[in-house]
Amino acid sequence: MKQKITVLGSTGSIGTNTLDVVARHPEQYEIFALSAATQVDLMLSQCAQFKPQFAVMASAPHARQLAEKIKQSGLQTQVLQERDALEVIASHPDVDAVMGAIVGAAGLPPCLAAARAGKRLLLANKEALVVGGALFMDTVRRHGATLLPIDSEHSAIFQCLPEDSSTWAERVDSLLLTASGGPFRQRDPATLSEITPEQACSHPNFSMGRKISVDSATMMNKALEVIEARWLFDMSPEKIKVVIHPQQIVHSMVQFKDSSVLAQLGTPDMRVPIACGLAWPERIESGAPVLDFAKLAALTFEEADAHRFPGLHLSWQALRAPEGTTTVLNAANEVAVAAFLERRLSFDRIHAVNLQTLESVQPGAVSSLEDLMALDARARESAAAIAGRWAR
Ligand code: NAD
Ligand code: MG
Repeated sequence: MKQKITVLGSTGSIGTNTLDVVARHPEQYEIFALSAATQVDLMLSQCAQFKPQFAVMASAPHARQLAEKIKQSGLQTQVLQERDALEVIASHPDVDAVMGAIVGAAGLPPCLAAARAGKRLLLANKEALVVGGALFMDTVRRHGATLLPIDSEHSAIFQCLPEDSSTWAERVDSLLLTASGGPFRQRDPATLSEITPEQACSHPNFSMGRKISVDSATMMNKALEVIEARWLFDMSPEKIKVVIHPQQIVHSMVQFKDSSVLAQLGTPDMRVPIACGLAWPERIESGAPVLDFAKLAALTFEEADAHRFPGLHLSWQALRAPEGTTTVLNAANEVAVAAFLERRLSFDRIHAVNLQTLESVQPGAVSSLEDLMALDARARESAAAIAGRWAR
């Protein structure tokens, strides 16, 4: 029996890489549904290639455009336009696995719907977990969903950890997340205010979406990943460490009580963790080139510079603060990054917006998705006002 897959965010960097892997194994996987925000023509060509039952566009005008073009081209795909369409395709009884590859907190409701429906959930959308925290993990556990990390660092850690998760607390000393350091690892910190969106989005090793590219440049991506690791592996924040590794060959490591360290290596190609998540515990061909050790130059490691990357430490700070603080941090960062990409805020002010929003928004109790989304909205409002004060 073929596995039926829903890809949330199919037109993005992770979405298109997922479809690339799926297309290599037509005997094993078929696409049940696809979703995107605004890229109608790419979605149309994906529908023509993968013939999903359903397609969803986040914006209503784009959904109407897609429906019209699908009709003209004679395809059978149905464009769902109801408000909860993403939740419908994430939790549909016919679906086996859901790839969460939407960027930002917008991906939380459909990922939670997949978890509630007990699906196999492949999670690239780290913001969903940063915002959802304990509630997200409780939902996964209560409904017997299988959560498989797609973020390359977390896929690496997942592969290095013992299979029996009840042994982790006892055996594991620390998780070592590797970070590329982004394009400004060696740039004079005094010049960070001059960085343009084009410079921030030109990552040395990966082609990624614009938001995560900026996050990699500020190292807020690693901050989000520390929080992601805390929830995925139920590790206390002190056991999670970050080390800079510019070559991105070692994707992350686990250090055990006896000082032994296991690492997962590979070429920097997201199809590796995607294929790993799709097939786990089996292994399938991913399309990524294999590592040629004879040609590898040195693998180097260094400490993250707290002065250059002040945002990194906000993760541990937020994890020690009351629940909901990571939701506030994520919302602030989404607002600040969007303002930077729209040239309304300078690069170095992204951290300032994050810090000030954390200081000005008190989370209160969060016990439902509605509470989280309300807190997210409140934090966005506050962050927008703070960013507005520094607008260029
Ligand atoms: P991207 O910007 O390339 O793609 C995002 C996708 O989500 C697109 O299909 C877009 O149409 C859709 N989308 C955007 N906003 C939406 C909204 N409000 N509602 C519904 N759909 C929306 O991003 P990406 O680089 O593919 O990253 C996706 C997620 O995966 C992010 O959370 C990112 O942190 C994570 N991730 C990405 C990489 C990578 O290499 N690109 C690596 C690890 C983790
Ligand atoms: Mg990552």
